[in-house]
Amino acid sequence: MSMLRLAPHVHSCFSDDSDWELSRLVRVLARAGYDGALVCDHDRTMDGDLWAHVQHECDRLGARTGFLLVPGIEYQDPDHVVHMPVFGRAPFYGRSPVIDDLVGWARADDAAAVFAHPQRREAWQRFDPAWADRLSGIEVWNRKYDGVRPNGWALQQAEQHRLAATIALDWHGTRQLYPLALRVPSPQHGSNRERGDAVVAAMLAGRMRATAFGVDVQRFSHGLLGQSSRGFESARQWMAPRVRRVENLLRRAS
Ligand SMILES: [Zn+2]
Ligand SMILES: [Zn+2]
Repeated sequence: MSMLRLAPHVHSCFSDDSDWELSRLVRVLARAGYDGALVCDHDRTMDGDLWAHVQHECDRLGARTGFLLVPGIEYQDPDHVVHMPVFGRAPFYGRSPVIDDLVGWARADDAAAVFAHPQRREAWQRFDPAWADRLSGIEVWNRKYDGVRPNGWALQQAEQHRLAATIALDWHGTRQLYPLALRVPSPQHGSNRERGDAVVAAMLAGRMRATAFGVDVQRFSHGLLGQSSRGFESARQWMAPRVRRVENLLRRAS
């Protein structure tokens, strides 16, 4: 079965901290080798009308370019510590919801909720394992907050709670471009909306692979990276030309 290579956790100009038009995102990410993107813009600048507009723009551009755009919203809890992207066509739940409510709503609406960047503001301390059965994943490698290696705590939680490991560019600009991709079975036919719904269904069912440099991200916890700094050094040497290749692609695209 062919797999789509998706850019995970991408902010567009519908977020207050990104000025990337969707059309520019499509051009650059397609050039970097992605087949589509999981878009998530912040709830703090979202409302019902804008959410409808974001979905419409994703579908319009997806139809025009063939680059799959899956819309989502990144929610933040009332203290702005826990962030939770929710992918799919769920209604807008309002700004700064209580996370315990959010995970239940998302699951009931067949949307894929993900515990984001545990590292940021020590959000990991607020992780509640009781959420696990309603979450679609936990970000074990967020490019913006974890840098060039995955988050050991998150990898451990994924294993312990049988939670899918996901990764995130947390794209706000080219600095976050890195060879991280979410691979999901490719829906054969349909509109951007139908294909996007199929991707979200796959995420809900755990039919996805979080990859870094084309390799399952779990391998970075034991094999490639290991725990030792020596392991990390050899992994860095292994990664360097791969990172350069992506940077070269990017230079040509932008
Ligand atoms: Zn965030
Ligand atoms: Zn984000």
